[in-house]
Amino acid sequence: MTIDQVREGLLARRWSATELATEALRFAEAENPRTNAYLHFCPERALEAARRVDQRIAHGEDPGALAGVPVAVKDVILTQGVRTTCGSKLLAGYVPPYDATAIVRLERAGGVILGKTNCDEFAMGSSTENSAFGPVRNPVDPSRVPGGSSGGSAAAVAQGTAVVSLGSDTGGSVRQPASFCGVVGVTPTYGRVSRYGLTAFASSLDHIGPFARTVKDAATVLRVIAGRDPADSTSADAPVPDYPAHLDGHVKGLKLGLPREYLKDLTSETGDLISRGVEVLKRGGCEVREISLPATDYAIACYYIIATAEASSNLARYDGVRYGFRSSGSDTLSDMYRNTRGEGFGAECKRRIMLGTYVLSHGYYDAYYLKAQKVRSLIARDFANAFQEVDAIVAPVSPFPAFRLGEKVDDPIGMYLSDIYTITGSLAGIPCMSVPCGTTAQGLPVGMQILTRHFDETTMFRLADAYEKTAI
Ligand code: GLN
Repeated sequence: MTIDQVREGLLARRWSATELATEALRFAEAENPRTNAYLHFCPERALEAARRVDQRIAHGEDPGALAGVPVAVKDVILTQGVRTTCGSKLLAGYVPPYDATAIVRLERAGGVILGKTNCDEFAMGSSTENSAFGPVRNPVDPSRVPGGSSGGSAAAVAQGTAVVSLGSDTGGSVRQPASFCGVVGVTPTYGRVSRYGLTAFASSLDHIGPFARTVKDAATVLRVIAGRDPADSTSADAPVPDYPAHLDGHVKGLKLGLPREYLKDLTSETGDLISRGVEVLKRGGCEVREISLPATDYAIACYYIIATAEASSNLARYDGVRYGFRSSGSDTLSDMYRNTRGEGFGAECKRRIMLGTYVLSHGYYDAYYLKAQKVRSLIARDFANAFQEVDAIVAPVSPFPAFRLGEKVDDPIGMYLSDIYTITGSLAGIPCMSVPCGTTAQGLPVGMQILTRHFDETTMFRLADAYEKTAI
């Protein structure tokens, strides 16, 4: 169902929010062994939220924009009283004492959180194979990965166990799994959604973003969770437009840019599907021209320096002292730190902590970290220049569709390289999203990426919605 369908049924009294939540929990729990999308469910919290929606309806009050809508939440977003593991052994038993702002806003709007979804450990990865709790399988083809790191949230929406879900995106972790699973995934402007209660991976790049089956549903969720939050000083004090109200199908006259650098290394099937997507937008009246983003070649190196540097600092807090896993039987304090971190973190987190510590170390800081920050400015400038000429950029999300489980786990560099089309938008902090644009001959979904100017999610949604309406 879509958000509107849930709402219509509630208001027509065809079902209550409690009935819907009960059925959704039953279905999600029954389906979960096929994908491992959820790490745990929170039935008490879900039924309590549903009961509040039913009460509001009974009292004739507005039940909220997400009334009764079953939602899944990536397990890096804190939920008070509900385990939040970040896909890590280090936090396997961690129960947060507070809710993330996005969670508070979701529930205030009537959303019903069913459970927490599986992800790469601390959101580091592109396949969800770095979870300490086993990989997620792609509902479209269970022999393949759902993408990552928000693979569980993408799979939950793709398999229909949640109507919408929340993920987090630092370098592509919402857009790429959305593309692999055939759903819509949105990374808003940096600062659009509060990061309060989002477990930090790379703070200057982290975003919370929604997954949905339709553009309108994703726009509705973003409208609910977006906006200034005094608890996050980097959250933007910019008005939040009524995104869904702008989806009028009108895209005539919008100028679209196709980045030359993005189209050269695609598999032909992905390239053909993107080209067909662009044709659809052209028929809707968009003007298309080629643009250049010359700093693209440096994006992977730049991202994996900045992201690992920030991660090494953010992950220093997991020392076994205040909360989370603590290794037992150490004789000294430093042994306790060492053993806790040694046993608690998986291989990818360790790799990144080492890389990040190295690029920040005395003597290398200028050569790596500072240089990467300069390159980041060049990448942002490329986009700023492009947006002088065009209103939006259309691009692939990933060079290839969902790969097989195990295919890339032993090749971290290969895995990093696959992030090339998503990390540029992340480094620039601009809004970007993936909208399904067809399937390969093998039936694997492919997403088309749409990127716009800072805080112009409206144009991005409008294009994606017009595309979705015409293409289907
Ligand atoms: N795949 C990228 C990485 O491994 C992006 C992850 C993310 O966006 N959280 O860092």
